[in-house]
Amino acid sequence: MKETQTFQATNHSELKGKKYQAVTRLDILKYRNFNPILDIRFLGGDLMKIIIVGNGVSGITVAKFLRTQSEDADITIFTDEKDYYYPRPILIEFLAGRVKREEIYFYPPTWYAEKKIKVESHRKVAKIYEKSKKIELENGEQYSYDCLVLATGAKSFILPIEGFNKKGSFCLRTIDDAQRIKDYLSALGLYNKRKAVIIGGGFLGLETAYAMSGAGLEPTVLEYNKSLLSRQIDEQGADILKVKLESLGIKFKLEAECESLNGNDQVESITLKGGEVIPADLVIMAAGISSNLELAKTAGLKVSKGILVNKFLQTDNEFIYACGDTAEFDGRVYGIIPVALAQAQTVAFNALNGPKLVYKGVLLNTTLKIAGIDLTCLGDSNPPVKAYDIRRKADPEKGTYIKLLLKANKVAGVILIGDRKDALSWTKIINQKIDIGRVKDSILKENFDMARVFSNKS
Ligand SMILES: Cc1cc2nc3c(=O)[nH]c(=O)nc-3n(C[C@H](O)[C@H](O)[C@H](O)COP(=O)(O)OP(=O)(O)OC[C@H]3O[C@@H](n4cnc5c(N)ncnc54)[C@H](O)[C@@H]3O)c2cc1C
Repeated sequence: MKETQTFQATNHSELKGKKYQAVTRLDILKYRNFNPILDIRFLGGDLMKIIIVGNGVSGITVAKFLRTQSEDADITIFTDEKDYYYPRPILIEFLAGRVKREEIYFYPPTWYAEKKIKVESHRKVAKIYEKSKKIELENGEQYSYDCLVLATGAKSFILPIEGFNKKGSFCLRTIDDAQRIKDYLSALGLYNKRKAVIIGGGFLGLETAYAMSGAGLEPTVLEYNKSLLSRQIDEQGADILKVKLESLGIKFKLEAECESLNGNDQVESITLKGGEVIPADLVIMAAGISSNLELAKTAGLKVSKGILVNKFLQTDNEFIYACGDTAEFDGRVYGIIPVALAQAQTVAFNALNGPKLVYKGVLLNTTLKIAGIDLTCLGDSNPPVKAYDIRRKADPEKGTYIKLLLKANKVAGVILIGDRKDALSWTKIINQKIDIGRVKDSILKENFDMARVFSNKS
């Protein structure tokens, strides 16, 4: 018997023994072709074996939310890293010397035992046998699963620049990468006045440059585009930001294309297209990411930039899900934590037998974490299409800039530089799709009371 229903409940455990009830904490579930008999039979399916590959924020969040859904599901995480989960932003703090290696971990080891989450560290998964529902490790050991979650993340994208294999050339994705950079600097001797060149003027490049300056080096950021953070902010905002960053001792070369890294054994300089040579004691590549697709390919799963997933975040094999930096949803790999968290929660719900949640996306929210520089981008903050009603307020002397992108009087994106005090209000305005038509001409004026947006009176 097939039925179409809308359900009300909070998690899979609540569904146990309740024949026609189901559903979600996220208000979504409009279910097609749901077969309650099948689902009830599987709801005792708490004994499901779920294997998660990857112990980054996506993998650990899937595990954590799975446990809230099911007390007994058998949850194992395989990760090729040696370390237990640490959030990658902490690597910046570690590089700058503000955090010690033993302080990077998010959960104490006891947490994993309490949650009955097994973590198999330093164990790379080499192959998926999708027909027999097994994975195989590099050493040939095989493990079977009922449901497999690929949370394999991404690696640094390495531009093909001649000499980028010399000693002193690095990327920054893992704690091992960060440790290698620190060890190299220690071996070089004094940090002070050493020259660090960072390739890429995106969020990671800027935060890395800031970390280098915090560690006593002189950083220079090379950016291929005309302005910094060109995916998130417009040129006017980028100019204001650049002045602020320069005041912190970070140098910039815009429209800079790297041709080669020079030096005999170790890096000594970089040559740019056009011939300019920039001294460099070390070079860090921060030119974006590329999803880890090798494992998915062993199962013949469909991939493009990332592993292709449907609205339930299933790959083209219904028992294999993907989320976070490895997943391509709606034509995009997002590469940021808010998306990884939201996708992981959806996967955790869907991985158990039973009803499925539709992944609805999440507000894009990126903040530059550099002390004294407030920059937050929300939503479509610098879309390539210019069909928006744009409102902005800039004060280059104070270093503040606000830009709103409106579509039919609703806010689609916001750039906030130098003043983040209303960031929460803007988040609500975007999320709640509030029509700001009646205040759009005054909302950026000095002393505008944001409470007016949320009240019915203008
Ligand atoms: C230095 C730094 C700072 C950042 N700061 C921010 C920030 O401030 N805000 C923000 O939103 N985002 C930030 N990001 C991006 C953010 O960290 C990523 O979006 C996030 O880590 C994605 O999580 P993930 O779990 O999908 O993938 P990952 O974190 O890449 O984790 C995937 C894991 O899977 C493992 N793996 C891959 N293949 C296999 C295999 N075959 N077998 C076993 N294990 C495997 C990988 O080694 C890795 O440990 C930052 C990234 C870096 C590097």
